[in-house]
Amino acid sequence: MRKPFIAGNWKLNLLTEEAVALAKKLALAFKGMDNIELAVAPVFTVLYAVAKALKNSNIGLAGQDVYWENSGAFTGEVGPESLKDAGCGYVIIGHSERREYFGETDQGVNKKLKAAIAAGLIPICCIGEKLEEREQEKTLKVIDRQMRGALMSIPRAEALKITIAYEPVWAIGTGKTATPGQAQEVHAFIRKLLAEIYDQEAADSIRIQYGGSVKPENIKELMAQPDIDGALVGGASLKAESFIALVKNSLP
Ligand code: PEP
Repeated sequence: MRKPFIAGNWKLNLLTEEAVALAKKLALAFKGMDNIELAVAPVFTVLYAVAKALKNSNIGLAGQDVYWENSGAFTGEVGPESLKDAGCGYVIIGHSERREYFGETDQGVNKKLKAAIAAGLIPICCIGEKLEEREQEKTLKVIDRQMRGALMSIPRAEALKITIAYEPVWAIGTGKTATPGQAQEVHAFIRKLLAEIYDQEAADSIRIQYGGSVKPENIKELMAQPDIDGALVGGASLKAESFIALVKNSLP
């Protein structure tokens, strides 16, 4: 059985006071919920403060990106051990905004995944097609390339620690959600790929989140799909009321 996993990506939003206040509200609201795994990904500079606010809660802390080295002359980068030092147990890797605006490649995603796993972080590996790729019916080809690139030479035992987040780029922050059927089609394809790369048992145990304008109103039908195991949530994770409603609505 795959435990549902919902993570909030706060992106470049919320200063310390706001982030800590939100974290405290979430910790209170989700207290005692043990049938779902939860995490939030604040800006690097507020990680430590949010970690303190989430202490003794059931909400994990995630970095929004990571470099593949732990130390050295890499000005501006944050390594896996630094994320752990700040209190993180998770890290988002390969988000489409990193790919689009910061030149992230499949090869870089692969190096980051390996470094994160080596440090004991749980990676959330993002993949997804752009609008023109969907319109040209290249979605599954793009997903195939991104998946094989991300997982290149990652052994099965390590791959089991990864969560995949399928995020169609055209649905991120646009208010357009993939229909549950569109999302399920790609999730099933991703699981088939995992079975090809590893084996069916591995494919059946790796979680695949959906991301792209997930809201309290649409989470239920997305979660009802057999291969959707949770969500990576941007906008709706920035307000306590909407993230709490979304998480509650995700459960049967
Ligand atoms: C995201 O940031 O990963 C995301 C899915 O954003 P939104 O929910 O705002 O579309």
